[in-house]
Amino acid sequence: MLDYVDLEADLGEEERMIRDTARRFVDEQVRPEIGEHYEAGTFPTELILEMGELGFYAPNLDGYGLANVSETAYGLLMQELEAGDSGLRSMASVQGALVMYPIYAFGSEAQKEKWLPKLGTGEAVGCFGLTEPEHGSNPSGMETRARKEGDSYVLDGSKTWITNSPISDVAVVWARETTAEGSPVRGFLVETDRDGVTTNEIHEKLSLRASITGEIGLQGVEIPAENRLPEADGMKAPLSCLTQARYGIAWGAVGAARDCFETAREYAIDREQFGGPIARFQLQQEKLAEMATEITTSQLLAYRLAELKERGDLRPQQVSMAKRNNVRMARDQARIAREVLGGNGITTDYPPMRHMQNMETVYTYEGTHDIHTLILGHDLTGIPAFE
Ligand code: FAD
Repeated sequence: MLDYVDLEADLGEEERMIRDTARRFVDEQVRPEIGEHYEAGTFPTELILEMGELGFYAPNLDGYGLANVSETAYGLLMQELEAGDSGLRSMASVQGALVMYPIYAFGSEAQKEKWLPKLGTGEAVGCFGLTEPEHGSNPSGMETRARKEGDSYVLDGSKTWITNSPISDVAVVWARETTAEGSPVRGFLVETDRDGVTTNEIHEKLSLRASITGEIGLQGVEIPAENRLPEADGMKAPLSCLTQARYGIAWGAVGAARDCFETAREYAIDREQFGGPIARFQLQQEKLAEMATEITTSQLLAYRLAELKERGDLRPQQVSMAKRNNVRMARDQARIAREVLGGNGITTDYPPMRHMQNMETVYTYEGTHDIHTLILGHDLTGIPAFE
């Protein structure tokens, strides 16, 4: 497995164990079936509980039955899951970084005790509703509204492109509260079996097919006032969740690219044309050398983020740089790996084209490549260029 500058040498025992557990899980439980799931447009839902048992949901959080592992261990976990499929890593990212993290960071003690243990085991599934049909890259324009009525809130609006909404028990919904002073952004826990909630699935995807994506319709949905996340105040709350998830994506994209590289290397050595393996051609060796170099430099960036995150010094802009770079890298390298495989490369029998298609979503969600460019541009010049 590609680790060209021997990053493994600096891993602790627990980090190796978590990586190996995830790698084995992917090899045994995911690889044999994932191509069929991709073609069918289904997620292997039978793995949700097993992923919980293995501690794949928010293991970097502490308490409530969660493991409190290092940020490197968490990153390695995301890397191995995405080597299987971006849909699998998306499942763990949404559940851990976008549902459990906001409850952990902004929730009341009662909310934490009610939800974190069962989300951690996978007995409950959650989703994160920020994007709306008219507000994607600019979520602060959101139109979903919450108004306080006695001991309840009433929510109206719609969210779209929501990973796992059709199979979720609870949605973290971001909405503007209508108050006399203004309309601050707030977070709410909305159980999906409440009257007025609909979660239609989006079926037409040509990317991230092994992942369930849907809408959240909210029509006069009444929830108890204690379902509001009390510490979530303003857009910085959902944005801080996105920073957690983007951190995992920066690692995960390296896993997808590594899987493409390993497939291409093995194929190039096995496949014979003109009387010998295609790996003997300089043209193919250049592709493998370039892939290995790109993957290694992206890996280094991910490892550095882990160090900064571990000591509490990680800035969101640094995460933007890594998400932007590593996903673009994976998208480009998946395409090159696909080329090395010739005609076989366009089938679901081999992973590169599946990863390549997945990367179109990963390039777009959690802040598009363009938006991360603007975040970096703002950070580097002090001048915002969003509008
Ligand atoms: P738009 O914002 O309309 O952007 C269209 C294009 O314009 C992009 O290329 C963009 O980069 C560009 N653009 C926009 N603004 C600017 C600007 N200022 N300068 C230059 N270019 C600009 N959201 C959730 O809330 N929860 C989820 O679980 C979730 N899961 C998803 C799963 C999938 C499979 C997909 C595809 C999306 C998911 N999303 C989710 C939504 C995702 O975050 C949005 O698609 C993304 O933020 C982009 O929004 P948009 O699609 O509306 O594109």
